[in-house]
Formats: sequence, structure tokens, C-alpha cells
Amino acid sequence: MASDKVTVSFSCKGCGTRLSWLDDAIDSTKISCSNCGKYFGTYLDLRNAAMDATKAEIESRMEDILKRR
Ligand SMILES: [Zn+2]
Repeated sequence: MASDKVTVSFSCKGCGTRLSWLDDAIDSTKISCSNCGKYFGTYLDLRNAAMDATKAEIESRMEDILKRR
């Protein structure tokens, strides 16, 4: 089911550019906006944020499922 897929992406709060980084980024790699240069934190910070967002998404879906019963 395609709806089971959880995707998390980050956009720059300043200019809206989608943040991206190299595949070989490590935890201490610093991520900043490629357009305006705003600093967002390290790859580890973003990974943790993505993890939290994913958990929140899963929890809200679980609630939806439980409500339907
Ligand atoms: Zn930006």
C-alpha cells in the first residue's frame, strides 16, 4: 500500500528551498540552505527531527485506525 509510506522532507523556513545533502553525509555534516545559506543543524539533528516526525505520523495514523473500529 502506497499510503503506508512515510516521507519526511525539510524545506528552508526562509526561502522555501528543499534542503538536500550528499549521500555520504555523516552525523557531523552541517546542513544549510543551498539558496539563502540559512544553517539548519547537523545531519544528526535532521535525522533526529525526521525520526520524531515519522513517529508522530505513525502515531496519528494509529489513532485513525483505532478510531475506525
Ligand atoms: Zn533558504
